[in-house]
Amino acid sequence: MIVEKPKREPGGRPRARVPSNALVRGRNAGLLTRTGQGVLLAAGLLVASCLAAMARPWSKTADAEPILPLEARGDVTLPVPDEEPAPARAEPNQPAPAVAVPSPPPPAPAPPASVAPPAPAVTTRTIRMRVTAYCPCRVCCGRHSDGKTASGKSILTNGSHFVAADTRLLAFGTRVSVPGYYAGAPVPVLDRGARIKGRRLDVFFRSHQRAKRWGTRWLNVTVYEAR
Ligand SMILES: [Zn+2]
Repeated sequence: MIVEKPKREPGGRPRARVPSNALVRGRNAGLLTRTGQGVLLAAGLLVASCLAAMARPWSKTADAEPILPLEARGDVTLPVPDEEPAPARAEPNQPAPAVAVPSPPPPAPAPPASVAPPAPAVTTRTIRMRVTAYCPCRVCCGRHSDGKTASGKSILTNGSHFVAADTRLLAFGTRVSVPGYYAGAPVPVLDRGARIKGRRLDVFFRSHQRAKRWGTRWLNVTVYEAR
């Protein structure tokens, strides 16, 4: 096979020579062969470069980049805080199970869990109210002295510690804390009265004497409202 080496003139251009037919065929064959070799070579190079590209970036990015961005890119403030909290959480989480094993006892009891939810859901507000007192006698309740409150609950509810209110302002069941009544403990609104309108409150006593002793007081009443 005649493989003509590309002889170049001093100018760099291939020598312009008129080839014979055989030479043309041979040259064409040689070109074909060289083209085939070139394709193979190109493919080989491509594979090699791909392999190199696969091998290099992986090892480089895996080893160098995660470390460099954190330490070297100190000027990039946003990515660093984002990446740092993640490990910070991950690390406490790993030791956490060891610590959490003794901690389950607090959440384990059901009663505390059921009591806990209402606590954060309740908000309080304070209302300045005119607070009077009453008892279940006929003088205080007239025809309503039947042992039952307007809410339907017995006057014995909550140890007979409850209040009457304007239910347009404080609905039945609303808990209020009245200074000086039941030691300021929250008591429910169970009753209402014809004269208990607006910012009026009637605290309940079992005896008429104690109700009279209470008199009339202007107090800051705390209202507990569930949401
Ligand atoms: Zn009375």
